[in-house]
Amino acid sequence: MARAKDEDLLADYKAKRDFGNTPEPGATRARKKGDSFVIQKHAARRTHFDFRLEHDGVLKSWAVTKGPSLDPSQKRLAVRTEDHPLDYGGFEGVIPKGEYGGGPVMLWDEGSWEPIGDVDEGLAKGDLKFRLHGQRLKGDWVLVRMKKDRSGGTRENWLLIKKRDEHAGDGDEPTEDYDTSVRSGRTMDEIEKGDVPVWSSNKAQKKTLAPE
Ligand code: MN
Repeated sequence: MARAKDEDLLADYKAKRDFGNTPEPGATRARKKGDSFVIQKHAARRTHFDFRLEHDGVLKSWAVTKGPSLDPSQKRLAVRTEDHPLDYGGFEGVIPKGEYGGGPVMLWDEGSWEPIGDVDEGLAKGDLKFRLHGQRLKGDWVLVRMKKDRSGGTRENWLLIKKRDEHAGDGDEPTEDYDTSVRSGRTMDEIEKGDVPVWSSNKAQKKTLAPE
């Protein structure tokens, strides 16, 4: 029973991808319980920010079209997307053109998160409160599910909103302030071109230049 349930969480993730053609991680659910959080800037057909919170051995995911804002008056549309494997939180690279979500993916923020209240209840109710301990995003946030629109579509629209606290800022748009990878320091263009991360090329250079 437990196994079948485990596989179900990543069934959509698996069904959408051809792992022979994409460098994205396979659909393995983690056994460990952690509290990681990651945001990936993803230049697919439209650039968006994938917001992911670890829960139940997977990454609960939302695509934030305009990206998160530190301004509490800004309610950012966050379309719920399929659960992703935990390994996805370490993924930065290029999804080939023609594959699902084709385009470069940048690790834009990472860290840990702290739910405020019960996570399963929050997800079911459509009201998930939490605190972020990222490198770029911190403080209290809420994800609120909107009522289904009349088009009868199956997609779930949520809103990502910054709570007012010492990390909030009117008119503060972190996605404009930071345009490089939090992990490798690369820009979207550098990721797309497949440039080696800065830290890695520095290391290589040192190795060559240093006397034996
Ligand atoms: Mn995406």
